[in-house]
Amino acid sequence: MAPAENSSPVGNGSSEPKYPIKYTKCFIDGEFVDAISGKTFETLDPRTGEVITSVAEGDAVDIDRAVKAARQAFDEGPWPRMSGAARGKVLFKYADLIEQHTDELAYLETLDNGKPFVLSKYADIVGVLKCLRNVAGWADKISGQTYKMDGPYQGMSLYEPYGVTGAIIPWNFPMLMFMLKVGPALAAGNTIVVKPAEQTPLTALYLAALAKEAGIPSGALNVVPGFGPTAGAAVASHMDINKVGFTGSTEVGKIIMEAAAKSNLKPVTLELGGKSPLVICEDADLDAAVDIANLALFFNMGQCCTAGSRVFVQDTIYDAFVAKAVEKAKKRVVGDPFKPEVEQGPQVDETQFKKILEYIESGKAEGAQLLTGGCAAGNKGYYIEPTIFGDVQDDMKIAREEIFGPVMSLLKFKTLDEAIKRANTSSYGLAAAIVSKDIDVANRFARSVRAGTVWINCYHVYDQSLPFGGYKTSGFGREHGLHSILSHMQLKAIVTPLKDSPWL
Ligand code: ADP
Repeated sequence: MAPAENSSPVGNGSSEPKYPIKYTKCFIDGEFVDAISGKTFETLDPRTGEVITSVAEGDAVDIDRAVKAARQAFDEGPWPRMSGAARGKVLFKYADLIEQHTDELAYLETLDNGKPFVLSKYADIVGVLKCLRNVAGWADKISGQTYKMDGPYQGMSLYEPYGVTGAIIPWNFPMLMFMLKVGPALAAGNTIVVKPAEQTPLTALYLAALAKEAGIPSGALNVVPGFGPTAGAAVASHMDINKVGFTGSTEVGKIIMEAAAKSNLKPVTLELGGKSPLVICEDADLDAAVDIANLALFFNMGQCCTAGSRVFVQDTIYDAFVAKAVEKAKKRVVGDPFKPEVEQGPQVDETQFKKILEYIESGKAEGAQLLTGGCAAGNKGYYIEPTIFGDVQDDMKIAREEIFGPVMSLLKFKTLDEAIKRANTSSYGLAAAIVSKDIDVANRFARSVRAGTVWINCYHVYDQSLPFGGYKTSGFGREHGLHSILSHMQLKAIVTPLKDSPWL
């Protein structure tokens, strides 16, 4: 079932390696199976809009089948009964296998998602491995406490897995988001049913095959591709899923929470949208600030929930900043993501592409100043020019709503207090950043801004040791490392009488 160790490129020697697509069916109970309906859907190449392949279209009945397998694997299978050390060993092996298949996975990710191959290979897979090895290392280090109680009793707290968990994954970092949910769920001893995004199902299926090869038992990990309102909704509302993790839009997050509440009141972890402020102060090193702003917004074609999409620039340096920011954006290399020099590939699909172009039109219509870009790039696929708007006002649509594309908004401010106040007007609160040489200014901002992550003089720096998650409508619950493992466990209190023992 799993790919051969020596699977090799069958390409034509161009910059685009070619691998056959091996896995397109649902992965349930350790086997690749068709959807019960027999239906399939097409996954498209964002460079051209052409079909890559057809994938099994799972629905509620397939999710149910996967949940039954996951339930049996939890109630009767070895995974939750293994020691943490034994589970960790399997997960380390899983990481090694993923590392050995880096090129093929990176190829599939770029093909399905459109992100630069160098990003898939040197950022996304590296992130996957860090996540998996981190949680594998925690698997044998989770322990509760003992309590001296107010009476002749002994109290203990015990961390236990929830049971069957569900995960609904977005398309912007398909492999990484998969592992941020699957790694900790498995390390904690849960079993899991994953619904990848319909735009990007291919790497999740490949990762399922590698999980089997690593020795993760049948039923412990199941992957059911399909659409949100059908397969995704079935995960959120399933009566026998005990916890669900979701990364995606705030709008869908609300639907998932409602479905979770109305079914079996399963706890949810929601990592949702953002409209993150980046504040550039007048004392900043201008070139460094421009680099930070460029990375903050244009990284991953702007398709990041943490994108620095509201760039507040102090009025005294505004014009100088604009000149350099525009110059840098114009130099950005847009094109085929398999070419090593390309920094920006296509947006993931036609829906996103059109939505972003509509936001650009609304920016123009509401009076923002288009400084560069503003159009589709090329005449094929879903490429958009790196775009910058100046003189953006807080009440404009492009300053309020998540665009999820390569569109930077520059807003002018006078004082730090004003910047903090305006930064906090957003309903979102995922991330925020400040560029300043003054540590007091930076600290004041960091403590005043309502966001789950604050970067000072940097952006998009993540680590498994740091909690990741949102404030306000950007969601709740924390991911990464131990934070994520504990969010996949529930805490039990156990009490025993101390009959003939001294209770000192
Ligand atoms: P985006 O708008 O960026 O595509 P979404 O929040 O719509 O992000 O999608 C993220 C994930 O949520 C995808 O796997 C998608 O299939 C799923 N999804 C979309 N709608 C629903 C829904 N009603 N119920 C459950 N999952 C959904």
